[in-house]
Amino acid sequence: MSKHVAVVGAGIAGIEAASILNAMGHSITLIEKNEILGGHINHWHQLFPNRRQGRDLLEKLYEKMDDSIQVQYGKEITSIKPFSGKFIVTAADGWVTNADAVLMATGFDLFDAHKKEEYGYGIYDHVITSADLEEIFIQGEGLNPRLGKDPQRIGFIHCVGSRDEKAGNIYCSKVCCITAVKQAIEIKELYPSVEVYCFYMDLRMFGRHYEELYQEAQEKHNIQFIRGRLSEASENKQGGVVVKVEDTLLGKPLKLTLDLLVLMSGMVAPVAVTNMRDKLGLAKVDDGFLKPVDPHTQANLSELPGFFMAGTATGPKTITDTLTDARSAALEIDRFLKEII
Ligand code: SF4
Repeated sequence: MSKHVAVVGAGIAGIEAASILNAMGHSITLIEKNEILGGHINHWHQLFPNRRQGRDLLEKLYEKMDDSIQVQYGKEITSIKPFSGKFIVTAADGWVTNADAVLMATGFDLFDAHKKEEYGYGIYDHVITSADLEEIFIQGEGLNPRLGKDPQRIGFIHCVGSRDEKAGNIYCSKVCCITAVKQAIEIKELYPSVEVYCFYMDLRMFGRHYEELYQEAQEKHNIQFIRGRLSEASENKQGGVVVKVEDTLLGKPLKLTLDLLVLMSGMVAPVAVTNMRDKLGLAKVDDGFLKPVDPHTQANLSELPGFFMAGTATGPKTITDTLTDARSAALEIDRFLKEII
């Protein structure tokens, strides 16, 4: 008899796990709080390191989705309760389903850059986040509608809300260094004469072909990487953003006026998911993400039999790692469902 799995979250991890579990013969309900599938990738223009369109990846994942997967849109899950060997899954609008297993593929939220007041997001017109910049790329009109001119100097600030004790997040978000490199190249392709500066404390180019993209940024596009943390940003009368940075390699303070400052916001755990974790009495990690039983051998399992997790629900991951993790979760769930017959 087929078993029923509730997959909470229809970003790339949820879609991939749902497709695989469905192909294994299980009955799947894919539950999404928004009115569209795909999560953050809907708002990402090009992916790293190969500059593939985000839309193209989603289409590949949709192709694998069978019509027999039931999709519930607009369902914000507020409660998951174990009951008699099953789970009762309830949404804010009163919708309820019973499942033999639950997969939390709830993803991440972007760090709210307003919290870093010293960077001026939401205060100065020409301070935006990396997510805002992706939307600008998707719109395809460049920066002129926002700036009223071709940009001459643009800066990227790494580690916004990540590796930052003041923000309460000491972990690395993994993807924002390479995203800054990719976005800086996209900017240079649009405006070849613009000066682009990336201000970093550490550069994390750990993935396959990330280093090559970083080298391309320096050698082909002359993008400047400056080791230093931004101390403050302010606005001048012309609407430029004045930044003060300590260059920690040269040991000198720097003051630059930029046409645009881009904040590389990191990943944070969605508050609703952290609350659900606490209600279910699952193991805590201080950063709010879900904690697997064992990060190496049981990375998709919780202490609650039948309750699984995948993708960035357990912490920052790249797209490649997220999809691999989703496949791993599907195998673990299949194994669990066969054992409970
Ligand atoms: S990936 Fe880079 S920008 Fe992002 S948190 Fe890690 S070190 Fe900072």
